[in-house]
Amino acid sequence: MLATTHFSPLIQRKLDLSKQETVDLAQRDLRCPNCKFIVTKVYGDIRGHMEFKCPKCREIYVVNLSYFREQTHSRYITLTRVIQD
Ligand SMILES: [Zn+2]
Repeated sequence: MLATTHFSPLIQRKLDLSKQETVDLAQRDLRCPNCKFIVTKVYGDIRGHMEFKCPKCREIYVVNLSYFREQTHSRYITLTRVIQD
């Protein structure tokens, strides 16, 4: 049986707002640079550096998130640029 987590009203409000703000944001996987294991998922507005420990290879990495973007929708981006020109 899973324990039910109860948050204070302030924390619950912050969690609700955070979830609502992600509705229109793209989400992508952040993969370990060594073994490619999916470490976490991040949203399109994330910036800066992040430290993580890969649960698979157990190495600790510091990454600048702008260097680790996956181009999964390159066809769409190309088509959009053609239409705008
Ligand atoms: Zn790894």
